[in-house]
Amino acid sequence: MAKIKKKIKTIKVDADKCNGCRGCEIVCSAFHASPKYSSNNPARSRIQVLTNRLQDKWLPVFAGEYTPAECMGRDVYVIDGKEYDECDFCRAVCPSRDLFKEPDSGLPLKCDMCESEPPLEKPKCVEVCLNEVLKYEEREEEVEEEEEIEAVEAALGSLIDKHGLEKIADTIARMSLKS
Ligand code: SF4
Ligand code: SF4
Repeated sequence: MAKIKKKIKTIKVDADKCNGCRGCEIVCSAFHASPKYSSNNPARSRIQVLTNRLQDKWLPVFAGEYTPAECMGRDVYVIDGKEYDECDFCRAVCPSRDLFKEPDSGLPLKCDMCESEPPLEKPKCVEVCLNEVLKYEEREEEVEEEEEIEAVEAALGSLIDKHGLEKIADTIARMSLKS
């Protein structure tokens, strides 16, 4: 099977430096608005800063994969005297919470690392974070071509399971008209 080069993009999070300014949420929602920068609504952001002011906790989390079922894990972690629920670190868009769901349609949001043409030097949330909480890195890995196609099919399949083929087809058609 053919091997292809895949660019792996990573954003490292140094949560201790975060002051909860929410600039990352605002710019992410504005960058993904249609047309770009026409509006901003942190509820549409693909990064959310989970906040507990009493515990001085600010935890930026990126939207990941959609999952149709919630997990059973509810472990608690204590790090530097601060308590974290297992869900705090989880990137999944799952039925147990409203995080990372488009407020109007309920469709899942996912961080796409600000893919755009021409490509950005770094994702928008990294660019605006003045406290250097977010650090962007890139590397290349070789993967089987088949793995890439399977990943796309799995993501599409889970969306169709949740929202039905008709709604997903309508959404794709709408997006194609806008681009
Ligand atoms: S922009 Fe940086 S400091 Fe502000 S909330 Fe986001 S991660 Fe935290
Ligand atoms: S990398 Fe881009 S899409 Fe992902 S959270 Fe940051 S601004 Fe949003």
